[in-house]
Amino acid sequence: ASVGRLLAEAGRPSFSFEFFPPRSEDEEPILWRAVESLAPLEPDFVSVTYGANGSRRDRTIAATRRIAEAAGGPLTVGHLTCVAQSRHELAEALAAYREAGVTNILAIRGDMPGGGEWEAHPDGLRNATELVRFVKEEGDFCVGVAAFPHPHETSDDASLDAEILAAKVEAGAEFAITQLFFEAEPYAALVERMAGLGCRVPIVAGIMPLTVISQIERFALLSGRDLPADLVGRLRAAGSKEEVRRIGLESAVTLCRDLLALGAPGLQFFTQNRSKATREVLATLRGDVAVG
Ligand code: FAD
Repeated sequence: ASVGRLLAEAGRPSFSFEFFPPRSEDEEPILWRAVESLAPLEPDFVSVTYGANGSRRDRTIAATRRIAEAAGGPLTVGHLTCVAQSRHELAEALAAYREAGVTNILAIRGDMPGGGEWEAHPDGLRNATELVRFVKEEGDFCVGVAAFPHPHETSDDASLDAEILAAKVEAGAEFAITQLFFEAEPYAALVERMAGLGCRVPIVAGIMPLTVISQIERFALLSGRDLPADLVGRLRAAGSKEEVRRIGLESAVTLCRDLLALGAPGLQFFTQNRSKATREVLATLRGDVAVG
């Protein structure tokens, strides 16, 4: 089964969940609790992020394998980056994915551990476009890529980002998943920019409900933009943790509704290995639209 085909043929928006590999053995149960409590929602697919160093990478593949092999488990996407790996190591990671039955890959460049300027491995690849081409050459994989409603920090140039996304599609990518964002407008603008380039790749919207006040700065850093001022104002004025959570979830529901109204082909929830916020947002959405 392929995510590309699913998005092309489902005739309704897909919804999916992203998990990250446990950082240590202690974190394993947290991941499996989240996976198990979200399973009854029957996601169209789930994905597991790729760790920045060797041991995290092994954990990524182990966790992806375990999800993919679960009886009746969801379609599973393995993330792959080209940070600090030779072509040979990338080929090995792909072989391990294939052996685990994972044939859908999210090909992203990755960032330098510690946040330094990007540097390709001497025997590796320079960017995600090269990685997409590499994965396609290694076998019959369906490949997805990252998209940025707000310009990626290194370019800060929306047209360049759109051209890069089009180049990744040209290289063989069949779908894209966005970085998180907070209002539907930048997503709509991205879809329009892509259409202007003649590129109609399905762009799944990445959703991360905010539940605690300390996430304001972190989410801004991740998305490359400050959160909308009126939302921050409401969150800061909230009188309790419960109130913050309610405002955060309400704003995620509004965003999802706006995106579905725009015709977004899918919603990918960045679960952070938790399940409650995702369950609540989805329950509300399923109350009013035919998602899933
Ligand atoms: P690219 O598409 O290669 O673009 C990165 C930058 O390279 C561009 O902004 C541009 O400056 C430059 N560039 C690339 N191609 C060209 C070109 N042809 N000409 C000029 N400049 C060019 N990171 C992880 O480590 N693990 C994960 O599992 C992971 N999952 C992610 C999932 C999603 C949905 C998203 C949105 C991001 C994820 N990331 C992950 C983060 C990602 O690795 C970073 O955002 C990274 O900085 C960019 O990756 P990319 O694939 O967009 O890179």
